[in-house]
Amino acid sequence: MKKLTACFNFILGVSVLILLLCAPHNGYAKKKVRKIVIDAGHGGRDPGCHGVYSYEKDITLAVAKKVGKLIQNELSDTKVVYTRDYDWYPELKERTEIANREKADLFISIHVNSTPKRNSPVKGTLVLVCGPSRVNEKEGAIGEHANNFEENQGLLDPNDPITSIIIAQYSQAFLAQSIVFGSKINEEFANQGRYTEGIRQQSLQVLASSAMPGVLVEIGYLNNSEEENYLNSEEGQMEVAMAIFKGIKFYKEETEKDPIQITIEN
Ligand SMILES: [Zn+2]
Repeated sequence: MKKLTACFNFILGVSVLILLLCAPHNGYAKKKVRKIVIDAGHGGRDPGCHGVYSYEKDITLAVAKKVGKLIQNELSDTKVVYTRDYDWYPELKERTEIANREKADLFISIHVNSTPKRNSPVKGTLVLVCGPSRVNEKEGAIGEHANNFEENQGLLDPNDPITSIIIAQYSQAFLAQSIVFGSKINEEFANQGRYTEGIRQQSLQVLASSAMPGVLVEIGYLNNSEEENYLNSEEGQMEVAMAIFKGIKFYKEETEKDPIQITIEN
């Protein structure tokens, strides 16, 4: 039995390595952004976090649909794929499977943050990319506050050897592009006058298993009454969707640009 397990682990390790070695390592390997997966966090039996009167799963879905409409209206050559377009719960694994099966060029997961306190003054947006964590992961888990239990379930154990290989290879292939995308979204939130917690690296399951650049965006705090009202308003949802859309548009333009030609004159 021991031998069998060792053999299985070896085959698994080799398969993962072959798969990862085949992934594009050049930051600009893909020239066209033709398909974008929009992932509305949580859903169905998993409501996510909640405020006084609303659930995360409903806000993420409403914003996801608005982002999708903006893409359909303004980027006619780009297809939108939703991991869910109604109130049900796809497992995290299913979400990345959808993205990989569709061979999407970009992945965006939309979430709402929270802390355990009711009516907390903590507010703001946060953009997460998948990479080796720079801070103590336990202290730095999702937001500075480490209290969004539902989100913490989506964190991988960085001490697991296979996980650390997957994260390292994902980072090599997609981290730079994901940062280009995420930084633009963060910049747009700041331009809109939102408080932002910036952009941060985490070992996120939903991103690590996907074969494309991507980010997870926390669009505000649901247990902050001001932000709960904002995120439930048509205007607030539209503003958030616009910041994400501008990030997508910028990323698409940057990716599809001709590579810079450098001529050296003698
Ligand atoms: Zn969430």
